Amino acid sequence: MKFDFDKIRSEFPILNTKIKGKPFIYLDNAATTQKPICVINKIQEYYSEVNSNIHRGVHYLSQKATMEYEKSRTIIQKFINAASNDEIIFTKGTTDSINLMAYSFAKKYMQSGDEVILSMMEHHSNIVPWQIQAEDRGIKIKVVPINDNGELDIDAFESLFTSKTKLVSIIHVSNAIGTINPAKEIISIAHSHGVPVLLDAAQSIQHIKIDVQDLDCDFLAFSGHKIYGPTGVGVLYGKKKYLNEMPPYQGGGDMILSVSFDKTEYNELPFKFEAGTPNISGVIGLGSAVEYVNSIGIENIYNYEKELLDYATSKINEIPGIYIVGKAKEKCSLISFDLNGVHPHDIGTMLDNDGIAVRTGQHCAEPILCKYGLTATTRASFAFYNNKNEVDSLIKSLLKINNFFN
Ligand code: PLP
Repeated sequence: MKFDFDKIRSEFPILNTKIKGKPFIYLDNAATTQKPICVINKIQEYYSEVNSNIHRGVHYLSQKATMEYEKSRTIIQKFINAASNDEIIFTKGTTDSINLMAYSFAKKYMQSGDEVILSMMEHHSNIVPWQIQAEDRGIKIKVVPINDNGELDIDAFESLFTSKTKLVSIIHVSNAIGTINPAKEIISIAHSHGVPVLLDAAQSIQHIKIDVQDLDCDFLAFSGHKIYGPTGVGVLYGKKKYLNEMPPYQGGGDMILSVSFDKTEYNELPFKFEAGTPNISGVIGLGSAVEYVNSIGIENIYNYEKELLDYATSKINEIPGIYIVGKAKEKCSLISFDLNGVHPHDIGTMLDNDGIAVRTGQHCAEPILCKYGLTATTRASFAFYNNKNEVDSLIKSLLKINNFFN
């Protein structure tokens, strides 16, 4: 399939706006992605023509809304190649998916003293839910260290397993430094110890082909807004054998078959984990976003972004005194850097004056920044609707900032 950049660009209305009188250059895609017109239209169409509650109405629109909601489940099932629709749970996002997992998995499978393995490069949303379980249930957290390039120490990872290890919960792509972790190898090592794996795919789902059956991944979490869909919606994929055994995370409507004050019977998968009225328009919008990604091809997206990353890395490296944080061999399309000690918030503000949006701070990943002795970096993250001209504009502004402060 041909990668038609001009067509793609025209499909994102926000990218044609101006910020402070300058053409808008959006390089904060790791925080959230912009939305194509088909997603925007789909949500508007839902509220103007379909809006109804799902799963419980006999009337026409309720059935239509249910059909569209369930169609999104199938789109996502096919996108990640899950074996069954029942393995796709809609949540509020990655954070919600991991909290569901931590609560429900730990309740079913973990006792005091049991261990979960995380890594040094986790997002806070894959640290804190486990710390809550550590407080509530006495589970223990073990942490895989990383080398100076920002790659996982696989030998150290292997040495962390004990008879008490019950789960590996690990980031696929680092939002702070861009490292792509070797998911297949991690899963195969964990399985050789009889331990299942949860992959945090918040930063990989929009860049890399994910086939959960090929990976033999047990659980996968991602957010809709990182893959060109709406905010407030996400997915937890889980193998049926686990989800069937795990207790519900929340109680309420839709997750039950029958309720009495003596005994309540829970609904079957996936509804057991979807209590209450869900984000219907969000789920339908997410389905539309994934169809849009399919129409371009995730492999085409990966290849285009890889070329852009290589170009941006070589250009950024030409800036005197710049230090790229995270130099893994396998990286996704983001660059975190320190510019001669200039405070990232100053850099972010000055770039904003040139119409360029980047992220500055600790990227909800304090432990890994701490490992590099930093409290903040500037992060430029790219999507397939960015191009080399935008990278050149970033470099020009950074050179200006560098001259100003040094
Ligand atoms: N995990 C990673 C790697 C992330 O980058 C993020 C968000 O930046 C999250 C989890 C949390 O995602 P959300 O805020 O959409 O729940």
